[in-house]
Amino acid sequence: MNIRHAGIGMTSQRTRGRMIERLRSQGVTDEVVLAAMNSVPRHIFVDEALSTRAYDDVSLPIGHAQTISQPYIVARMIEVLRNGGQLSRVLEIGTGCGYQAAVLGQVAREVYSVERIMALHKRAALALKELQARNVVLSHADGTMGRPERGPFDGIIMAAAATHVPQALLEQLAVGGRMVLPLGAQEQVLTLIERDAGGYRETRLEAVKFVPILMGKA
Ligand code: SAH
Repeated sequence: MNIRHAGIGMTSQRTRGRMIERLRSQGVTDEVVLAAMNSVPRHIFVDEALSTRAYDDVSLPIGHAQTISQPYIVARMIEVLRNGGQLSRVLEIGTGCGYQAAVLGQVAREVYSVERIMALHKRAALALKELQARNVVLSHADGTMGRPERGPFDGIIMAAAATHVPQALLEQLAVGGRMVLPLGAQEQVLTLIERDAGGYRETRLEAVKFVPILMGKA
């Protein structure tokens, strides 16, 4: 642990414990997800000035007009993705600060996460290095293209809202795989897409609010 995190370090485990209890009361039941969120220090992913709020159930600014998702949404998306099973290869679009990628790294064998904003990509890489999350591979690219050379993926998570599911991501979803993403413009709905041998099935889960997906690199 470096100096910057030393102060909060002593209390963060207890604060994290309270976050886990809150997630339970919000209906998260997957013990694997709860254990993963209990082990990843969320405060190292936010600005020092905001670190006392890191475990509140809110999204927080991470610069470049982007946010770290609120704990409930991170937990819910990963719970839906896992569906009680084991994940081997997961793709995340929208690394942001890298927090969700770190949690995914605890529940999946390999995680590939793509971010279009270079500065965020670099900062996330530093945080994940500090956590020694070696099974999380970051890249700086437009994530709507996915990572065809690494697929197919048995789980795909989009952390930014789209009006339609990018075709490349549908193609990179393994048969038997699950994709979770916010769909819609003004009104967004967290949506699950399951692929089986016969095709794709879409299930609408709950209303959410995400930043929009943008095209190209920045
Ligand atoms: N996963 C983050 C939340 C990130 S917010 C967390 O753990 O809290 C959404 C992120 O998606 C932003 O960083 C934004 O820059 C990124 N994004 C938006 N459009 C994208 C695209 N086409 N490709 C890759 N990343 C994108």
